Amino acid sequence: MLLILASIVVGAVVGSFVGAALVRLPDGRSVVSGRSSCDSCDKQLTARELVPVVSWLIQRGVCRGCGAEIGGWQLGAELGGAAIGALAAALSFFPFAAMVMGWQLLLIALLDFRHMWLPRVLTLLLGASGAMFMTLWSVQARDPMMLAEALIGGAFGFAILWLAAQLYERLRGREGLGGGDPPLLGAIGLWLGPLGVIHTLLLASLGGLAVAGVMHQMGRQIKTDTALPLGTLLAAAAWPIILWQGLV
Ligand SMILES: [Zn+2]
Repeated sequence: MLLILASIVVGAVVGSFVGAALVRLPDGRSVVSGRSSCDSCDKQLTARELVPVVSWLIQRGVCRGCGAEIGGWQLGAELGGAAIGALAAALSFFPFAAMVMGWQLLLIALLDFRHMWLPRVLTLLLGASGAMFMTLWSVQARDPMMLAEALIGGAFGFAILWLAAQLYERLRGREGLGGGDPPLLGAIGLWLGPLGVIHTLLLASLGGLAVAGVMHQMGRQIKTDTALPLGTLLAAAAWPIILWQGLV
């Protein structure tokens, strides 16, 4: 219980960094350096204004200095981070690893959704941290197959989307996939192995169909070239699967 509570708090703090990154990374600004300040008026935030979720609710989503809207994204990122912490602590055999993966996927999913942008460095970090955990576990369990499975998963995840992209281009004569999607599924494959890649693709496809269905219901036209952020779908699908892999 204590672990779950602590994970919620840490998750909300990580989520507030994710929210800041969501605004700052697309502008090429740093998230780590510099004191926390308002993105509109540069007012430095006091300790009371830095409490995740609570500050947002008390201030009703506006800056105390200039009244600029802080936006639901910030709150969403903080709640998402907290939820990832809680679920990982409650459900996963490897809560820390599941959180590290989940928080990275949260940032990737939100960035791709909001800006259709999948920064290569984030994909690289996701893959590197996956490879690191798999190496540690492989050494600890004296089971080289674990590491081999991770590497096969990485190669498989990259290759399957890369091939799909090539095929689509051949047939349709235009790009059907963002260039960042094959590396992202490769990084996910390092965490989940080849079977996990297949599960991720299936779940992401179901998610895509569900989103398309909702868009259709809302009266938006779906055409063959309607772009859904595949990175968001993949990231959102991959995380439940690592939890599920830990349960079976
Ligand atoms: Zn302000």
